Amino acid sequence: MRYSRMLIPTVKEVPADAEIPSHRLMIRAGLIRKVASGTYMYLPLGQKALLKVIQIVREEMNKAGAQEVLMPSVQPLELWQKTGRNVDYGPTLATFTDRHGRENVLAPTAEEVVTSIAAGEISSYKQLPFNLYQISFKFRDEFRPRFGVIRSREFIMKDAYSFDADEKSLDVSYKAMYDAYCRIFKRCGLDYVIVEAESGEMGGSGSHQFTVPCDNGEDTIVHTQDNSYAANLEKAAVDPLPKQKPIQDPPKAELVHTPNIGSIEAVCHFLKTKPQDMIKTIILRTPLLNETVDKIRSRELAKHNGRTALVDEGWDVSTVVALVRGDHELNNEKLTQALGGKHVELADEKTIEKITGAKVGFAGPMQLAEKANLLLIDHAVVAMAAGVTGANKTDYHVKNIVPGRDFPLEGENIIVADIRNAVEGDTHNGKKLLFKKGIEVGQVFKLGTKYSKKLGAKFLDEKGSEKPPLMGCYGIGINRIIASAIETANDQNGIIFPISIAPFEVIVTSVNQDDPSVAKAADDIYQQLLAKGIDVLLDDRDLRAGPKFKDADLIGIPVRITVGKKALADGNVELKLRCESESKKVPLEDAAEKTIQLVNDLKEKLNP
Ligand code: ATP
Ligand code: MG
Repeated sequence: MRYSRMLIPTVKEVPADAEIPSHRLMIRAGLIRKVASGTYMYLPLGQKALLKVIQIVREEMNKAGAQEVLMPSVQPLELWQKTGRNVDYGPTLATFTDRHGRENVLAPTAEEVVTSIAAGEISSYKQLPFNLYQISFKFRDEFRPRFGVIRSREFIMKDAYSFDADEKSLDVSYKAMYDAYCRIFKRCGLDYVIVEAESGEMGGSGSHQFTVPCDNGEDTIVHTQDNSYAANLEKAAVDPLPKQKPIQDPPKAELVHTPNIGSIEAVCHFLKTKPQDMIKTIILRTPLLNETVDKIRSRELAKHNGRTALVDEGWDVSTVVALVRGDHELNNEKLTQALGGKHVELADEKTIEKITGAKVGFAGPMQLAEKANLLLIDHAVVAMAAGVTGANKTDYHVKNIVPGRDFPLEGENIIVADIRNAVEGDTHNGKKLLFKKGIEVGQVFKLGTKYSKKLGAKFLDEKGSEKPPLMGCYGIGINRIIASAIETANDQNGIIFPISIAPFEVIVTSVNQDDPSVAKAADDIYQQLLAKGIDVLLDDRDLRAGPKFKDADLIGIPVRITVGKKALADGNVELKLRCESESKKVPLEDAAEKTIQLVNDLKEKLNP
């Protein structure tokens, strides 16, 4: 392509909402433009980069034996009601009613659709295993779209779904995807780490996340120094803390007046204590523990068309009280796991007041085991010698609370578990845990039979008995790959693209376009490279050298050939890598060949 004929609107200024380098650079280099909150238009350079990522993903998926399909972006809500995920997804799921009054979902993912279609097609073990994938738009009404295409509302996902007859076969399908992901991310030039993950709302038995470490990532990777253990923060399991030395003759619990002082910080300030010496009491609600989630959901759906959360007046839910240390954060995923995969959320004010007898901010564990359906206590609370907590009386706290003495640690409805986020100082199997930030670019899940059972997919096994197939699902964020590559490889001048996903592999910059011999030499090299299949951009604009170099650096094309009057007089051109600061002189007649060699060397480095 000729630069003069392309729309590459590079700019200096970026809007204030572009907080991180990749977002700023994608705008500055003219790759994307914002259409509305969380939706972007890809301009020609951006689209070229996207297509390169898609090509790599497609090649590796095909190589791994997956078959490409295409599913609709608009799906019937009814399918989501069958799995209950219309409730689990909450307001992130965008829905609309069509002119016939039918309710639809803008696809955020496609387990329901693919499983319902598979249900109609499979009947025998002989048809299994298979893996179907698509590369298509997804829509999630994200609470806070940000960081450009890293968390947008509309994005392109590669989503794959495997169907297997038994566990062993599922393991093979899962491994094939895991390996394909390693190849894909390597080929895209990303430095990634693989971490254990919770399967969350997907609901399954095993999962790994592929994450690109970088300071601006929204995910936290928790790992040991030797990387023998790596998990995301939602999953990272911590060893119980050593028990604190018991206090000799501990004083009795003492009520203290803390008027209007409810938060941990305020109480600490007022009572001159530390957050780690406090016990946080969190009141939660979950579907009635002795009733199935399905039953609750069907009632909920009938009442609210599936768009409101589970908590509502008029029908029963269970109250769960969770205790964590004042300096610790409750971990929702661990909590859900402890409750057997049930959806949990904070109780409303009315429930909190009803169960504690006090205003919000003054809850404590005393007597709550009797009032709640379940008391979940974090290990770290059990290890405390004594602490401060709410008194279940408005404007009061209690000091000298001794776990086990002032509230029970054992009982029919009491569970001690790991329900908090890992923090600095924690260990896993005795090894110190370290933390770093990262961007999740892909995730693989073993789903088991959750979807096949609910959507009626069945097959007859070798012995003639009917079974639901075991499923897996595998997602990759295509747009995020580009943004994370830019986030991790850039300098003050712009993007430094890996060659495999760069919009162009080579740029030929003619710095004296008005000089016919320069223009001709540049054009000759350009034509030779094109003929050899190199993706090359010819900067034939009538501009000074400075702005041309600035643009080439900003858009991050890996190899630059500069053709200028002075060097050309000696029969030379200059060859430069974007990632290096020095250029090299090469004779004009060798320019194309040397460039091709450079391109091949760069590509070779990304070979898995
Ligand atoms: P996150 O935790 O970041 O919200 P997720 O775990 O919900 O993502 P998955 O359902 O696993 O996402 O989707 C598969 C892939 O799609 C993710 O690994 C990510 O790369 C990409 N993705 C998910 N949500 C977005 C989004 N809002 N914008 C861009 N890419 C996304
Ligand atoms: Mg994910």
